[in-house]
Amino acid sequence: MAFPTETVYGLGADALNLDAVKKVFEAKGRPGDNPLIVHIASSKQLDDIVDEMPEKGKLLAEAFWPGPLTLVVKRTILISDLVTANLDTVAVRMPNHPVPLAMIQALGEGIVGPSANLSGRPSPTTAQHVYDDLRGSVDLILDAGPAAIGLESTVVDVTAEPPAILRLGGLTRERIEELIGSVEVQVGIDRAKRSPGTRHRHYAPRARVLLVKSGDVENFARVLQEQRQHGKRVGCVVNSSLLAKVESGQYFRVLPTSLDILARYLFRTLRELDALGLDVIIVEGVPEEGLGATIMDRLRRASEP
Ligand code: AMP
Ligand code: MG
Repeated sequence: MAFPTETVYGLGADALNLDAVKKVFEAKGRPGDNPLIVHIASSKQLDDIVDEMPEKGKLLAEAFWPGPLTLVVKRTILISDLVTANLDTVAVRMPNHPVPLAMIQALGEGIVGPSANLSGRPSPTTAQHVYDDLRGSVDLILDAGPAAIGLESTVVDVTAEPPAILRLGGLTRERIEELIGSVEVQVGIDRAKRSPGTRHRHYAPRARVLLVKSGDVENFARVLQEQRQHGKRVGCVVNSSLLAKVESGQYFRVLPTSLDILARYLFRTLRELDALGLDVIIVEGVPEEGLGATIMDRLRRASEP
């Protein structure tokens, strides 16, 4: 069943029940080489799942769990190859939301919980998004209102030294480095090797996404005009006061410049514009600091051809 978390909605199944786990891959159309995150409700549950928790992993867990942090660690034999896509590591997270915490406690075991969207689409930040993508293929959707963060968790591989961020997310690199010192941020081929899920097309609306630099009015106006001249139906998502003045209307969305609020509305706005049946969505980028780095990662992936 689908459940709310503070990051995005998840699709939950008993992590030790292989039939249930298989159904999660099927419902999402998720490639079998993209491993799942196991969600836990208390640190005691780590014993069954994790073979060895490095010191820096402990520090991170103490500081940021429950929260938008996923740790990649060596796994025990209790965790199936299906969950980890044959890797010898497992990804674990303790979500900061009363609903999944209660579900996990009631079950007494970890649950897998990938984002509850069709593979490749923007992650669901409301129960309605889950319904739009997975209606008919999940038994139950628990609705607890919009997700507070609106972006997925930050995935940190703590088996490596220095630890590596395999996916930027709701917990910023800056806060991680304040606590455990410098980390690597994996991109490109290295990331694809270590985090198979990042290989696939992701976060993409049906319309083509064109990314324009933050505050670049000239380029924005040029791209908009070009697309219209080609007869394209164009929507826009901007945030700076400079670009906010260019147009108005339901195809022209202005998000707040505050990054945590922008993050909360980003996937939702892409989905809303997509529902208008556009050909192209022009999105203004954000400065690449803090949550801005995560937002830009998602926008770049969404704009990949
Ligand atoms: P999702 O649950 O859909 O938000 O995606 C889970 C993310 O965690 C994907 O990017 C996976 O590739 C990554 N992940 C899960 N398990 C592992 C693992 N054992 N090693 C590296 N990355 C992982
Ligand atoms: Mg996902």
